Amino acid sequence: MIALKDSIGTEFVERVRVFFSENGPLSKAKNFEFRLQQQEMATAVAKALEEERHLVVEAGTGVGKSLAYLTPAILFALEQHKRAIVSTHTINLQEQLLYKDVPILKKILPVEFEAALMKGRQNYLCPRRLERALQQSNELFTGPEQNELKRLAEWARTTRDGSLSDLSIEPDPKVWVQVCSESHICTGKTCGQGPGCFYQQARKRLLSSDVIVINHTLLFMLLGSPDQQGERESGYLFPNDFIIFDEAHTVEQVASRQIGIGISQYGLRSTVQRLYNPRTRKGLFTVMRDAAGVRLAADLVDEVDKFFAAVESSCDFRKGREFRVRAPEIVRDTITGRLTALQSRIAEVARRADDEFLKAELQELGRRIRDARDGIAIFLEQCAREYVYWVERTGKTAQFLSLNAAPIDIAPVLRRMIFREDCSCVMTSATLSTRVTRKRSSIGSRILSKKRKDAPLSSSRIIAACIRWPIKWRNFSRERNSIFLYKEAAPHEAVCSSNSRQHRAASSLARTAFGWGWMFRARRYPM
Ligand code: SF4
Repeated sequence: MIALKDSIGTEFVERVRVFFSENGPLSKAKNFEFRLQQQEMATAVAKALEEERHLVVEAGTGVGKSLAYLTPAILFALEQHKRAIVSTHTINLQEQLLYKDVPILKKILPVEFEAALMKGRQNYLCPRRLERALQQSNELFTGPEQNELKRLAEWARTTRDGSLSDLSIEPDPKVWVQVCSESHICTGKTCGQGPGCFYQQARKRLLSSDVIVINHTLLFMLLGSPDQQGERESGYLFPNDFIIFDEAHTVEQVASRQIGIGISQYGLRSTVQRLYNPRTRKGLFTVMRDAAGVRLAADLVDEVDKFFAAVESSCDFRKGREFRVRAPEIVRDTITGRLTALQSRIAEVARRADDEFLKAELQELGRRIRDARDGIAIFLEQCAREYVYWVERTGKTAQFLSLNAAPIDIAPVLRRMIFREDCSCVMTSATLSTRVTRKRSSIGSRILSKKRKDAPLSSSRIIAACIRWPIKWRNFSRERNSIFLYKEAAPHEAVCSSNSRQHRAASSLARTAFGWGWMFRARRYPM
């Protein structure tokens, strides 16, 4: 592996630099315009990948960031037999990458590569669950829901890829949730990967791709816990992969949500109603003809609403959709005992089920009930240390609530999960160092220090930081551990003094990404 890495050497960086030069291969693309910032950014990405370091690049609109990271990422992935994961926050950017940038590079790059979009598995129809739902439709669905199920069954015969985006009309979520692919239900025992499985087909396509485009939420969901990531020998999602975060200004927020706790009133209600819905008298307890389970679930639907109504009356939402909870026991715990009783009942009924598929469905709901109970207990007691707690209104008309808790300082978590040694991660955005969101400030995060607020920089600059983690002072080298500021207004090279605005902003940016920023030197480079 070392030999391979050495074989690329600086020749790889030089090749990327030439690709973006005035007369390089990219100049043959339609509407090409030479941009020094783009060339510098591509070179910095190539260098970071080659040296297995992490990189933060802030570049304003118009720099051409996506080509600047895609090109070195594709070349590096192919030459090193790695996989490039490109994570974005918005669907628009995913579409731009897959339908505009990738086709350009397919024409110009002297190599063949494949790129694919990774969707969450719940986006795919599970033919096995559909078949079961059709068999049990009288016990599980109301009349209109049965019609919706039939529509989905018709569509399943003709769909291209069995994913939600191939459906012309959005399905009823109550029906879709019972027929989509689910990891805990999809096991060798229950299915064994049927040949007509849309999810498995999509997975095969992904595994043969060199570049995988994904969104931040799904990425953090798949990354699992910091401990799980810490145990990995290499890579993040696949062995030997590397990640490029575009729109990286949202990474902290998304990571906090995924790593933290979120109990939604809507989600909890739906889970209980899948067991038994007192309004429609349908559910899995009806399929299993379990009267005790039916009674427990029927009572719990009301109790869930009463509990959240009590939470709502203890919050003040006059200033917005979020309310910070500063002390434990915002309301009396009237619900965790009932959730425990329901979970035990589900376990009991699942033991009796001889049908493996039904057993897996029940166990999955039992797991969700347990997670909700644990989350509510932690929220009410505020027993997770160094966490911030808040209640949020959710839903189109803000008719539901969610209870949330997230680590106050996400930086140590990101260091363990993302900025690991022997991995490469590139973060880029137009607004990395100047972001101060209302949410962050309102929930009192320490991530955005006061310095952040007074450190706005011109959007024309690129900040790139090549950093090896962990840095030891005795190994500190200006060449290897620097933040580079490229600014049009600074036509000459100058070392920023330690109290300059630029240095503070750069440090703040690095602190966001790496947990510390005070040990960097910042330099301006001529444009
Ligand atoms: S492999 Fe999983 S997703 Fe595919 S049909 Fe079987 S259970 Fe469903």
